[in-house]
Amino acid sequence: MPVDAAVRIGARRIERPWVPIHDPARPEHVVGRAALGTREDVDHAVAEAGLAQTGWAKLGPSGRAALLTTAADRIDDVIRSEDLTDLLIAEHGKVRWEAQIDVAGAGSVLRYYASLAEELATERESAADVGPVRLVYRPLGVTAVIVPWNYPVYLAFLMLVPSLLAGNSVVVKPSEWAPLTLSRILEELADSLPTGVVSIVPGSGDVVGARLAEHDDVRGLYFTGSTATGQSIIRASAGNVKRLGLELGGNDPAIILPGAPLEDYVDELLRGTFTSSGQICYSIKRLYVHASQHDRLVELLGTAADGWTVGPGDDPRSDVGPLSNRPQYEKVTELIARTRATGARVTEHGRLGGDTESVSGYFVRPTLVTDIDNDAEVVQVEQFGPVLPIVPYSSVDEAVELANSSDYGLAASVWGQDPTTTAAVARRIDAGSVFVNAHRLGASPLEIPFGGTKLSGLGRRHGFVAVEESCELQSIVTVENHARLPGPTAVGDMAGGRAR
Ligand code: NDP
Repeated sequence: MPVDAAVRIGARRIERPWVPIHDPARPEHVVGRAALGTREDVDHAVAEAGLAQTGWAKLGPSGRAALLTTAADRIDDVIRSEDLTDLLIAEHGKVRWEAQIDVAGAGSVLRYYASLAEELATERESAADVGPVRLVYRPLGVTAVIVPWNYPVYLAFLMLVPSLLAGNSVVVKPSEWAPLTLSRILEELADSLPTGVVSIVPGSGDVVGARLAEHDDVRGLYFTGSTATGQSIIRASAGNVKRLGLELGGNDPAIILPGAPLEDYVDELLRGTFTSSGQICYSIKRLYVHASQHDRLVELLGTAADGWTVGPGDDPRSDVGPLSNRPQYEKVTELIARTRATGARVTEHGRLGGDTESVSGYFVRPTLVTDIDNDAEVVQVEQFGPVLPIVPYSSVDEAVELANSSDYGLAASVWGQDPTTTAAVARRIDAGSVFVNAHRLGASPLEIPFGGTKLSGLGRRHGFVAVEESCELQSIVTVENHARLPGPTAVGDMAGGRAR
């Protein structure tokens, strides 16, 4: 079966020019090809989604949930029968366990949100002074989902499925860097739902993504990606004031509290930093440690990181794979070179594994950076690579101030043994999520709201809140107690009032 990410509008595949998708572990190897969708494709897909919208909304939450559950079963079968985990490893570079988590996310997110159908169907009733009130969830209409490359399947489904459950039809734009596995899974989803409820338009962000953002018939847009792109989406979407859910960049701090048992935390700290070669929105990107424990922590982290192997994702000896694409590889290696040139101490750890051919890929070893100030570039930017700056502090107040001295506020972590102290410090951190004594995949469960403050985004994903944010909340107020309305009680009184 050819591995294509095609433009698919309703039930039709549209022929468009193709671009090759390369394996980041062996860049000369072409894994598949992706279509270059056009602005007209977006317009067609949005029109088709508009036609499907009414019927999809009419099915009601339980009818939609039943179809989403069936889709989950079909998708799980396709993942197994077509070896989609291997496809994701090949197009993205992930190691196997990580690729499995990503592809399995499709089914688990579908089943989780299907289980929330009853909550969505329940109208909330309350009483105001003037009379009874009903709060009703209504679909937004046609929505768009724009996907990043780092967790292409799971992150797409986190945005897509709450919107589908809410009764919206959806047009999805995969990332041009990792579109293959996602598109195959989305085709199965589209086939499981009424025609036109899900359409897929691969292509470049400047063309397909920008058209979705500006489109007047798109009522909601869910985006995960960089802050710069999120800002351009805010500007482009102003025309029809569409609902936006934006999960943007992060520069997560981890604060090790004074006297923390460093040996106990080393393994978790490394996993929280270097899993996926640092290409996770909520990995540790800055580490703050009390000056008295700084040298010891650096030594422990370096020794443990020396045990890591960086190699092709399909090699079981690899702990982490390559960076996922050439632009990201260049961005990270250039940042490391600039940091080294400032005189900071930059040490690379672990080893490159795999065969000779594979080491031509976009591999970067776990890198620790010390002897730097908090305002150094490598501390202040989102590296999105396996690079960890470690900055000493002299008091907890200073650590909190340094942690908050960022334009981002996605997640953070606090490490220490006393739960009262860790909770108190966590409350002072300006971030959407604060983890205690961990900071890696799984620390942000599907049912717990997740999202950023400051430049890290708008709105929350996960949990029922993501469904609410995919709906219009309508208030129906029946006025029974007119005496509670302000002003004179009768028109005659108003006239009389004016006459007097
Ligand atoms: P980008 O912002 O570069 O791209 C994200 C998506 O937006 C891609 O599909 C891209 O298309 C598309 N896009 C690009 N330009 C536009 C535009 N003008 N209008 C509309 N869409 C556009 O992010 P990356 O894919 O590089 O992902 C990495 C970033 O994502 C990191 O900053 C990371 O922190 C963030 N991220 C945030 C998460 C969170 O939950 N907060 C989770 C995961 C990642 P294409 O690239 O195909 O051209």
